Amino acid sequence: MTKVTPMMEQYQKIKADYRDAILFFRLGDFYEMFGQDALDASKILDITLTARNKKTTPIPMCGIPYHAAENYIDKLTKAGKKVAICEQVSDPSLPGIVQRKVTRVITPGTSFSENILNRKANLFVLAIFPKKDYFGLAFADLTTGEFNATEIQGIESLSSEITRIAPAEIIISREHYEDPEIRTSILNLSEAPISPCDFYEEASQFLKESLHVSGLEGFGLGNWPFAIQASALLMRYLIDTQKETLAHIDRITAYHKEDWMHLDEATIRNLELFSTLRDHEQTGTLLSILDNTETSMGGRLLRRWLVQPLLSRKEITARHDAIEELIQSDTTRNQLQENLKLIADLERLLGRLSSTSGTARDLIGLAESLKLIPEIKELLEDSKSPLLKELQRNLTPLNPLVDTITAAILDEPSPKLTEGGIIKSDYNDELDELHNLMKDAKTALKNIEANEIKATGISSLKVKFNKVFGYYIEVSNTNLDKVPDHYTRKQTLVNAERFITPELKEHEEKVLTAEEKSKQLEYEIFVEIRIQALKHIKAIKQNAQTLAQLDVLLSFAQTAIQRNYCKPELTNDPQMKIHDGRHPVVEDMTFEKSFTPNDTLLLANKTEFKLITGPNMSGKSTYLRQVALIALMAQIGSFVPAEACRMRPFDRIFTRVGASDNLVKGQSTFMVEMQESAYILNQATDRSLIILDEVGRGTSTYDGLSLAWAIMEFLHDAIRGFTLFATHYHELIVLADRLEHAKNYSIDVQETKKGVLFLHKIKEGGINKSYGIEVGRLAGLPTPVLDRANMILRELEIEKQPNSEKISTDQMGLFARTYASNREPGKLTHPALEKLQDLDINSLTPIQALRALDELKHLKDD
Ligand code: ADP
Repeated sequence: MTKVTPMMEQYQKIKADYRDAILFFRLGDFYEMFGQDALDASKILDITLTARNKKTTPIPMCGIPYHAAENYIDKLTKAGKKVAICEQVSDPSLPGIVQRKVTRVITPGTSFSENILNRKANLFVLAIFPKKDYFGLAFADLTTGEFNATEIQGIESLSSEITRIAPAEIIISREHYEDPEIRTSILNLSEAPISPCDFYEEASQFLKESLHVSGLEGFGLGNWPFAIQASALLMRYLIDTQKETLAHIDRITAYHKEDWMHLDEATIRNLELFSTLRDHEQTGTLLSILDNTETSMGGRLLRRWLVQPLLSRKEITARHDAIEELIQSDTTRNQLQENLKLIADLERLLGRLSSTSGTARDLIGLAESLKLIPEIKELLEDSKSPLLKELQRNLTPLNPLVDTITAAILDEPSPKLTEGGIIKSDYNDELDELHNLMKDAKTALKNIEANEIKATGISSLKVKFNKVFGYYIEVSNTNLDKVPDHYTRKQTLVNAERFITPELKEHEEKVLTAEEKSKQLEYEIFVEIRIQALKHIKAIKQNAQTLAQLDVLLSFAQTAIQRNYCKPELTNDPQMKIHDGRHPVVEDMTFEKSFTPNDTLLLANKTEFKLITGPNMSGKSTYLRQVALIALMAQIGSFVPAEACRMRPFDRIFTRVGASDNLVKGQSTFMVEMQESAYILNQATDRSLIILDEVGRGTSTYDGLSLAWAIMEFLHDAIRGFTLFATHYHELIVLADRLEHAKNYSIDVQETKKGVLFLHKIKEGGINKSYGIEVGRLAGLPTPVLDRANMILRELEIEKQPNSEKISTDQMGLFARTYASNREPGKLTHPALEKLQDLDINSLTPIQALRALDELKHLKDD
């Protein structure tokens, strides 16, 4: 057996505590990785794999230069890995083995790297604590200090919350991590990597200590044991990865799912709020249309508002009124926006200042932003709307802090903290003295050089400095004979010799100490001011949140002006009336043609149900989504793309649109379709808006039609929410005519000599023609194929003529009666079915059976 070197022994000891991470082990100017870490990392980073102990027992090994570590770390975290940075913490020149310690762990959800962070999106890490059907959730953004917690019930709610939060990393307790059932069920809900976290302490005690509070009731967590568990797990994880106290995480915000409209995963996806269904792009999403924010904080808040539509009429109207007021005054709006443009990302800047990554530039950013607050406050001074007034009140100028920062820190300080170049002169006497000394030393050096030239008569003599030798006198070889005796030789070069004198040595010490001291002092002053700034963390955070809200409201106002949106009117009566509504994204894309606006009228107890038929490509999906998007936009507080809109706020918006693939999760398209439909039927209420597009498409015609039919009846009879139901089953038109609160609509199509023209205009009445071949023509199918298809269609239609009527009405009769009059199983009324039920199969001979079959075939539905 080979003996393990002391260094490898140290490595193994440290690695044992970081089994889940790739350990970057500092060796001189490199971070080295060993064993499995090296195998994994070399593949992801595309770097050469070597081996240690090549001759005896080789251990795979690879390394990267320490100064280029950030890019490598980013690559690994992007690939879902964690990186533990293990530094040398004792002086390597001392005898014995260098002490090493993990100073930080970087994980996909806790990165501060500019390459990973999206300016306008949060980087959330989410902790989940499952207990049977309940889930405690806690999620935090380390870069902004935001920390939220909640408790929810049911795997579907968990799925929706995960979609809404969109975490970059999920953590669960190691115990849950090692339970394959729990791990897989969470893995199925998200693509984010899952990390385990060891947790032993008593959860609430640990949280209280970390947050320096005596109880958790103040945060609203008192009665939420699972949320407390999740929060403790998350806090533990953050502390373990950062290896320092987290000053900017000073509270937990507990929220109830019911505080805002709950949007399920399918709806967020189907309405293309953040990414398009087809390409997963951001262009072409609602976010891309609505985002006119000037600050990163506003950008992040807008994302949040998009998935947290409000439920209370009062709160929604408050936003609408604020936007209306902002629209009315161009000057105020423009000036506010000009100011916001100059505001730094206060939340992330605070996050950095609370950790060791903050720099003097962050302090300048803070001061520059705080300086603008008095003006913003003044611009809002005469506001009438309650929300703008509240924002005005919540802004706190912190002039003394601004003064301290600007008095101390240079306008453009060095990005490094330990190299000087941070503090202004005239701020600290001791520092000024040191700086003067350094300045004098430079003059002194010039004097030494001049004196030596004079004394030796060597005109080319130079006094120089380098990091290895310090100060020295350089004399070229041709002049060596003139060198005086008191010069001590330090180094020999090809063309010259380097010397030192006692005078120069003394000077060197003076300069170097002054420089060291001044750098140290500058750093200390920076730390002191940073502490002063952090004393105002609460007020700065409040300013940041207030500015973010103002930014989003201004952005809504800007979008409303640019795109000609109207202020929705929120009513108490159950209705939704849209005049000339448009689809916010499609209207932006139909460049050459103009978008055709459409009305919508839904009234409770009158017409809650709209059945929409029409050929493919006529605009059914667009219309359906447009109604859902208008409702959503109104409830996040935005103006809406319409001439007028009156509506009562919905409790939920449900959508089932098109065939969405969920093959990654191993479910068939039809299964997903049915799951989404089941979810809606189980959750929707009479206050919900329900959008169903093409239910039952993923199976055979009769299956699909039967399901669509039954779902439609259930929605109409039992749920009675406002429903828009688009279908290609023309058979349903009859049903809609018969149902009391349902109405048929279709999208107008004009047949011209050249082909059909899609008018995109919704009109009353169903349409029972598909125009499939016309769509094929528009899509560019070759003419011979189209001609042949037309020929086959005509033949089929002729063939069907005598019987087709009968078949379809027979079929309808079967449906109508089966559903309408006899919902009890087994009680069927079609004569064929009655006859079938009366047959005693056991007593029939094969011939009799064939005869009976023939009889059944010729039975008429009369
Ligand atoms: P369907 O669901 O009936 O197959 P879509 O809603 O997908 O049809 O619409 C097809 C295309 O028609 C859209 O991509 C869009 O370009 C255009 N379109 C739809 N509605 C309108 C409208 N109201 N005005 C203008 N163009 C529209």
